[in-house]
Amino acid sequence: MKILILPGDGIGPEVVAEALKVLRAADRRFGLGLELSEGLLGGAAIDACGKPLPDETLAKARAAEAILLGAVGGPKWDNIERALRPEKGLLAIRAELGLFGNLRPAILYPQLAGASALKAEVVAGLDILIVRELTGGIYFGEPRGIRTLENGERQGFNTDIYSESEIRRIGRVAFEAARKRGRRLCSVDKANVLEVTVLWREVMTELAAEYPDVELSHMYVDNAAMQLVRAPKQFDVVVTGNLFGDILSDAAAMLTGSIGMLPSASLDVNGKGMYEPVHGSAPDIAGQGKANPLATVLSAAMMLRYSFGKAEVADAIERAVGTVLDAGLRTGDIMTPGCRQVDTASMGDALCEALLAG
Ligand code: NAD
Repeated sequence: MKILILPGDGIGPEVVAEALKVLRAADRRFGLGLELSEGLLGGAAIDACGKPLPDETLAKARAAEAILLGAVGGPKWDNIERALRPEKGLLAIRAELGLFGNLRPAILYPQLAGASALKAEVVAGLDILIVRELTGGIYFGEPRGIRTLENGERQGFNTDIYSESEIRRIGRVAFEAARKRGRRLCSVDKANVLEVTVLWREVMTELAAEYPDVELSHMYVDNAAMQLVRAPKQFDVVVTGNLFGDILSDAAAMLTGSIGMLPSASLDVNGKGMYEPVHGSAPDIAGQGKANPLATVLSAAMMLRYSFGKAEVADAIERAVGTVLDAGLRTGDIMTPGCRQVDTASMGDALCEALLAG
């Protein structure tokens, strides 16, 4: 397993260190044959070589079978030229590797039901997967810009655009994912208003004929936003475009209580992927041992499941997370009365122990 590790900035290196501990423990138990290399991305890369995505990192990323990323960015780099900001490195590596399929599970561990902003009975046992198209739609569509009209008024404009092949390839990712789960897929669009999503709906419906074992439904995005907070457990897999997916996946994230628990995957057409926690570099807690490493550990589990087909190892890591939560261990972000607060490294150690015992 050739894996490139990109620790990044802020709490990135701290949480990645714990995920590596867990991967090495999994290697000891299951004999994975890990081949790890490390690279610079984001602020760390700017400091070392003046740009957020060095050529060397990109070459290593192309050579790897999967990438595990911490997080990038921080106040130190907030005032540099826009094109050289740490986040540009992240966008560039996603685009260069063609990582169009973003998988964001929102799983609420029953032990953390009290940490959600919603009532425990609405979210207990929640397990949904949002599949977001990541390299197309209105975030990339041309023409775009801000222009001045003849009357002197300024006008901002963007273009929401999807070709049939782009819709079909993200549709396939979603149908395949649904097949491995509850076999229900909800495609979210705004087909009552936007032609681009009329096509989206048509292509999803055509694809459904190839997946007779998956039940496809459609929902307008405004209703989907409402249903996500009203009765989120009705969903299994949700597939949607870049803009709607950005918003809905953040809403789904909050159902689970802490951003420190949420993993993600971004996949290319061949299943190669970059795996990263949903959270950022959290400069407010960096270097203090307060970061929750579970989102990164769960991202590593997704890597084993989706890029390497090692579902049994991913299951074992996810079970180890359940075991440490059952034991009452909590980092500060998920701490509730009666539990024991631990630091980042102790959480990683406990996970390794649970994994090796399990
Ligand atoms: P953030 O996700 O870094 O932090 C938001 C809040 O959540 C903070 O209070 C932080 O302490 C807390 N938090 C985040 N992760 C945590 C964890 N694992 N454990 C415990 N608490 C955690 O978002 P932000 O503050 O808006 O952004 C900080 C920096 O991160 C910015 O430079 C931003 O551009 C960057 N960022 C990077 C990514 C990425 O690398 N994918 C994503 C989002 C933001």
